Amino acid sequence: MRRPLLLNGFMATGKSTVGALIARRTGRPFIDLDQRVEQKLGMGIAEAFATLGEGEFRRVEREELEGLWNRSSGPAPVVALGGGALVRRAIRLDALDRSVIVTLEASPEEIVRRVGSTESRPLLAGSDPKRRVAGLLELRQRAYTEAHARVSTDGLSLEQVASQVQRIWQEDGIAVGAFENSYAVQIGSGLVGARLAEVLGAPSRLVLVSDHNVFGLHGESMLRALAAEPAPAVVVLEPGEEHKQIGAVERIWRTALAAGADRSALLLAFGGGVVSDVAGFAAASYMRGIPWVGVPTTLLSMVDASVGGKTGIDLGQAKNAAGAFHQPRAVLCDVELLRTESQRGFRSALAEVVKTALIGDRELLELLETSGDRLETRPSELLEAIVRSSIRVKARIVSQDEREGGLRAVLNLGHTVGHALESCAGYSRLTHGEAVSLGMVAALQIGVALGVTPPELSDRVRRLLSELGLPTDLSQEPLEQAVALIGHDKKRRGQRLKFIAARDVEQVEPMDLDLEQLRELARGL
Ligand code: NAD
Repeated sequence: MRRPLLLNGFMATGKSTVGALIARRTGRPFIDLDQRVEQKLGMGIAEAFATLGEGEFRRVEREELEGLWNRSSGPAPVVALGGGALVRRAIRLDALDRSVIVTLEASPEEIVRRVGSTESRPLLAGSDPKRRVAGLLELRQRAYTEAHARVSTDGLSLEQVASQVQRIWQEDGIAVGAFENSYAVQIGSGLVGARLAEVLGAPSRLVLVSDHNVFGLHGESMLRALAAEPAPAVVVLEPGEEHKQIGAVERIWRTALAAGADRSALLLAFGGGVVSDVAGFAAASYMRGIPWVGVPTTLLSMVDASVGGKTGIDLGQAKNAAGAFHQPRAVLCDVELLRTESQRGFRSALAEVVKTALIGDRELLELLETSGDRLETRPSELLEAIVRSSIRVKARIVSQDEREGGLRAVLNLGHTVGHALESCAGYSRLTHGEAVSLGMVAALQIGVALGVTPPELSDRVRRLLSELGLPTDLSQEPLEQAVALIGHDKKRRGQRLKFIAARDVEQVEPMDLDLEQLRELARGL
């Protein structure tokens, strides 16, 4: 429990009582944020709102939260938030990144019952408090739905609620903020055996989708972990990108239908990025959308495909030509599963990890630089650290730009030349990760030529990629042929293109470039 636990939710959902109980049980400090702010301001909330204004109250509240996040010592506390503390999204996303947020929920009837007399609750004044509660809940819904988890408190004892919340705090997941579709990614060793059944809950029907390689290696332990459930309907797909086609989706639909899966069924995607893209798309479209949970089994599917809710299939050679955004309900990254991944697949995914580190985590970059040969043996602790940090960076970016409006474009660092090289190689000679490695080397060198990337940074990243066993030598690549393909991608707008450039570590941004200028620079690599 490294990060503070924030309890969010409407009035009378039990934030303070549950918070105080968890603090007692875990020996952690308990903080009532409203009280803290009142102390600091030397007056009650109502008076502060009336005399200083809500803006000033929120500013102090924010300062207090920052203080909790930036504390340099002491155990992480349990914090009961005021009902409006996370209404502003920028603050909420910061809070999601730097703490574990659990929203406590209760029905309007239950809230009115718990509040009793509404005299002390001016917000609920009026002749129909239940309607008033329902209206306020609707208004604040967004502030409450973006959390690591939501716990319904109706019909549960205080102890039961506290135990559920405590478990979520201990899981220490990385939250992906996507409004009512928000979810958490859990990272650890042995998670399939320890936590999967709990995460799946009790769906009306479970449909397990995997591929032959993964199911052959890990199917038995997966089925054992699901033993408490009614036996799942199982679809085992042919492995590989060439099978990421509509036929695979149709098999899942038909199996689900034959198994009697209705809209409360759940789909479990157990495999690499191909399985999760196909299964996620089947979940997005079956009965117009059913929930799905991901258990990724490759490094790439953990660090990349597990965050963002992109699902889809190829149409013939056209990659990801059909698909949908459909966030999973939860993702479990059990790094033990990576032990059997092929060396080439694992190494290729490290290119995406380096890219992610360069975009948003200098400590991750340093960790990779100092890991040396340790990565060869894939120790769980190191894998957990790498997967966790990568997911955290991607989650931060995706949460701010769920539908690829702009910010998410930085994740395409290295992809402009990378894609071109990948398609020259006919998607067979180079893996995607190897192409991204070469593409990153190219992007950094182009950045140097443009005067935005320091040459030392370009050298540093190239050295790291090479130490990780990734290709970096552009002189061996058919650059002339690749240059012609630059711009055949989604980042082009007429003759202009958003080129992703690195000014420094954690300073990666899109630059608007003329396509011909970029091609000229690429020719000179
Ligand atoms: P993959 O799913 O094809 O897996 C690669 C190979 O490894 C397959 O043969 C698979 O059977 C095998 N495999 C998987 N897990 C294994 C394990 N634990 N042990 C042994 N073998 C195992 O490929 P991938 O690299 O995981 O993913 C690539 C796909 O992911 C592409 O189709 C790409 O478009 C997609 N992708 C999607 C997103 C997204 O955001 N949705 C992000 C990145 C990549």
